Amino acid sequence: MAPNRLAPAYLEDVRVLINTWHIPNETRVETDELPRLADDPRLWRSTFGDLAVPRRGRLTELIDLRATLRADLGRVPAGMNRWLRAVPVTAVVGEEGRLELAPSRDDTAGQILAKFALALHHGDWRRMRACDDCAWAFYDSSKGNTRRWCRMYGEGEGRACGSIAKVRAYRKRQEGSPGVPAPAR
Ligand SMILES: [Zn+2]
Repeated sequence: MAPNRLAPAYLEDVRVLINTWHIPNETRVETDELPRLADDPRLWRSTFGDLAVPRRGRLTELIDLRATLRADLGRVPAGMNRWLRAVPVTAVVGEEGRLELAPSRDDTAGQILAKFALALHHGDWRRMRACDDCAWAFYDSSKGNTRRWCRMYGEGEGRACGSIAKVRAYRKRQEGSPGVPAPAR
């Protein structure tokens, strides 16, 4: 997984969790890394910062939570209300009088929900987005908050999603009238 477009530190584990479902550039096949990660505490700890290893029997719930988070990228995340009702977080006065959020359940889902709620509070969630091309979840730190692709210009390894979209749009124009199906790439 390419570590591009990182979220603020407190939110990064949420972004990484969302991207445990991804479409690798090489295969273009939807891939779910979560079962493998949940099964291997060492791999889990090297993938996530301080996120608790999921307890046995919680994988299905976590996959469900991840689906809601992903569906709520780039929009008002109203779908998350269901989760906040099920696993509420409590406001706590933290160090130096800063807001901290304590989950009602001290496990993976609880920690994710506390981070999510904090992102709402900080206005960071509206910068979390899925790439229009490859669906990779990224944090848009651009000034205008208008980035649509995870890698516009192709940094390092892998594809440049924006460029591919541009090529596709160009081809579409070349192929002529709308309604005529484009040949498979
Ligand atoms: Zn992309």
